[in-house]
Amino acid sequence: MFCVECGAEGPTYGGVCAKCFAKKHPLVEPPANVDVPRCKSCGRFRFRSGWSRTDLDLAIAQVLAERIQPLPPFSKVRFTHVAREEDENNHFLTVKATGRHEGLEQLQDFHARLRIKPSLCDLCQRQAGRYFEGILQVRGEGRDLTPAEMRGVRTLVLVRVERGREDAGDFVSKVEEVHGGLDFYLSTNALGLRLAKEIADTMGGTVASSPKLYGQREGKELYRVTSLVRLPAVRVGDVVRHKGALAEVLDRKAFVGLRDLATGETRRYKTKDLRDLRRVDVERFEAEIRVDQAGQAVAVHPESGAERRVDLHGKRPPRRARVVWTQDSAYLSGLRADASKD
Ligand SMILES: [Zn+2]
Ligand SMILES: [Zn+2]
Repeated sequence: MFCVECGAEGPTYGGVCAKCFAKKHPLVEPPANVDVPRCKSCGRFRFRSGWSRTDLDLAIAQVLAERIQPLPPFSKVRFTHVAREEDENNHFLTVKATGRHEGLEQLQDFHARLRIKPSLCDLCQRQAGRYFEGILQVRGEGRDLTPAEMRGVRTLVLVRVERGREDAGDFVSKVEEVHGGLDFYLSTNALGLRLAKEIADTMGGTVASSPKLYGQREGKELYRVTSLVRLPAVRVGDVVRHKGALAEVLDRKAFVGLRDLATGETRRYKTKDLRDLRRVDVERFEAEIRVDQAGQAVAVHPESGAERRVDLHGKRPPRRARVVWTQDSAYLSGLRADASKD
């Protein structure tokens, strides 16, 4: 066969050789620039399908495929590329396009500049505008949250929200420390409810929620739901002053078990009957027990060596025992060493 254009001998495609076919039918029309918006806050790229987190090389491949269409008679084109960074937002691309038409594989090389356009994605925009729908409040039952609880709650919320950001669009607009507790302003009501349940499941406590109408959009009523978690008044291991006596919290399931430190007696109470509890700062440790000259059992502080009498409630003195050490007294503890604070 002969090429009708140049007379070359060999296989022809629509009457012309591969070289002449390529000249007459370019695979693509290379653009000088390909632009892609990138969120300057979260780093996601914007594709046709929406904002998505991906590395630069994959982003370039996707942008080339989206922006550059094959010219007829080609119906498909594939790209490979090499990118050279010019500066943070400009990359010089060397692209190889490959297409196929009736058994003829055609290549086309071209250069283009990838221009990253710094912008803000819809999520980051709403977050920056302090948009919120749901409010999550975490409080202690009749008390302030401890610093450890504050840290625990913050971490749990931020980790969960980060995890749901990509798929569900979850975000936190604002965190406030108020009234000895924490307030989180959240992207949706559902997120607030979910987090409240999760905090109550892991840290104990009760959940209540209250919706408040705040407007209308397209005839639909809009609600903001406040989800309130109350962490329990006491935790296992706390020492509290209860009706004038010092008591140790042994358990906190359906009932709260309080063990009077002076008498060693344990009684169970309903949570609602324990509103007046005051937590007392104490030390609790394993101490050596000695018997003094008067025949009384004393506990020895492991660091200071100070000695204090302890009431063994009629038992024989053990060598060592777990002791609650207050500002001015010492008591046997009813908690095992491994009883963790909940
Ligand atoms: Zn030819
Ligand atoms: Zn963003």
